[in-house]
Amino acid sequence: MSLLEIDKLKVYFPIRKGLLDRAKECVRAVDGVSFSIEAGESVGLVGESGCGKTTLSRAVVQLIKPTSGRIIFEGEDIANLSEAALRVRRRRFQMIFQDPYSSLNPRLTVLDLIGEALDIHSLVSDAAARRERVEGLLKSVGLDPSHAARYPHEFSGGQRQRIGIARALAVEPRLIVCDEPVSALDVSVQAQIINLLKDLQQELGVAYLFVAHDLAVVEHISHRILVMYLGRIVEAGEAKNLCRSPKHPYTQALLSAVPVVDSESKRPRIFLGGDVPSPIHPPSGCPFHPRCPIAEARCKTEVPLLREVEADRAVACHLVT
Ligand code: SF4
Repeated sequence: MSLLEIDKLKVYFPIRKGLLDRAKECVRAVDGVSFSIEAGESVGLVGESGCGKTTLSRAVVQLIKPTSGRIIFEGEDIANLSEAALRVRRRRFQMIFQDPYSSLNPRLTVLDLIGEALDIHSLVSDAAARRERVEGLLKSVGLDPSHAARYPHEFSGGQRQRIGIARALAVEPRLIVCDEPVSALDVSVQAQIINLLKDLQQELGVAYLFVAHDLAVVEHISHRILVMYLGRIVEAGEAKNLCRSPKHPYTQALLSAVPVVDSESKRPRIFLGGDVPSPIHPPSGCPFHPRCPIAEARCKTEVPLLREVEADRAVACHLVT
């Protein structure tokens, strides 16, 4: 049994218009996505902004209710649980955000920010145990335990992200959804946070759904990668293999924008025209056809299904066999 199984998940946001406030149209942010994550595995989710990856990641941790589909976590469909039942399970799946500062209450010390998570789930018996646990968590994310009395604004961006990670780890989750956790950080700090997440995974066996727009970052931490375009998965496969030989034209374009050090493996840059189309009126047929450099006539009418084209590689393109 997988730790997490997402089955035909859809998240549509109705757009209300007119005097009667009737929903006439909807934004199809996530449009029938299925994938799974094993215990201790890292799955990267990439795509341009507007492709639905943040909505998908928030639906996984139930910050957004899906329109349809199932979210099976540890064998149980959490998409249809009551708030009270969900509260108990929340301990097992946590989220860290792009901007740790906005997710940390500026009026609380680090001791209370992390201690609050312990209190909610009654994980410590008294104040001394609470302090000891918080100090241990700070140490495990590379922060000085004596800084527990400080406030978030006294830390750098990278340190604040470490506090966010410590807070998520406090409740001993089995899955952490990381929503662009390094996008706002300097490149050198990005590497430190990625390495920290990898070390913590080895030590604790926690699984990650790692969301980012930068394939180079995702490749570094992921065992498998999902490439998302306009609410759908268009390519999925083992991380190194997918980055070495991308098959979907969209993945190829994303990868061609990643700078490579080794000149022999340099790929010609593929420029994608325009932006991601509106998910209110997605293009007919293959949603990528208006931007695809190799589109054919049938791409405008036939929707390509995500299908396995070789071992551990699935692609949604008519021309990939
Ligand atoms: Fe391009 Fe057609 Fe493949 Fe879509 S199905 S990615 S438009 S070639």
